[in-house]
Amino acid sequence: VVGLGRDSGRFSAVVKGARKGKTRLAGLLEPPVELEGSLRPGRNLDGLSQLQLRRAFAGLRQNLDGLLAAGFLSRLFTEALPERSPSEGAFELFGNLLERLTARSNVAVTALWGQDRLLLELGIPPQIEICLGCGSDQVRGYSPRDGGMLCASCYCGSGFAVPAGVLDGLRNLRGLEADDPLPTMNPATVREIGRIYKQQFQQHLGLPDRVFRPVLPKRPS
Ligand SMILES: [Zn+2]
Repeated sequence: VVGLGRDSGRFSAVVKGARKGKTRLAGLLEPPVELEGSLRPGRNLDGLSQLQLRRAFAGLRQNLDGLLAAGFLSRLFTEALPERSPSEGAFELFGNLLERLTARSNVAVTALWGQDRLLLELGIPPQIEICLGCGSDQVRGYSPRDGGMLCASCYCGSGFAVPAGVLDGLRNLRGLEADDPLPTMNPATVREIGRIYKQQFQQHLGLPDRVFRPVLPKRPS
């Protein structure tokens, strides 16, 4: 299995006995799920044992949009976070996102907010307040190469224009706390903001395009 641990960070480990048909263990490993367990270093592979269920996010399984977003976020977190580098912030964030998706609140905006928060956790958020070139607060475009917003005179040639509504959306998302309700956004704004976060991840971490497609949470294999 691949997972995200509060104390361990991203890990891969073997769970002995998990493939033996319809056992309690196989059921426990149906993602997404929060487990308590013991991670022990092994000769070749680490072992995960003494598993107990903490949160099942049961409602998520009846909600295809939410499940696809959970799959996307799971893959993004596991590809973006470095292995064996504990981040309590990333762990809490991931749990918060699954709770929000389970509550079916605003799936697309939840996925966007999660990406902005993950970029913050990784220390590579897009700069959205001032022009990275000259410091002007009149920002008009985004440049992946520069990793943020630029004003009209600085962005020519190096990025793309960002409409005022999209900039408002980016600032709204940045200002939200973990317990705040998420704003509603029209599909065009969601698409444009998603494009900016994707370029930001790709610029800094080189993640491939496939990471940014909706996908069902992966069963252990
Ligand atoms: Zn400028």
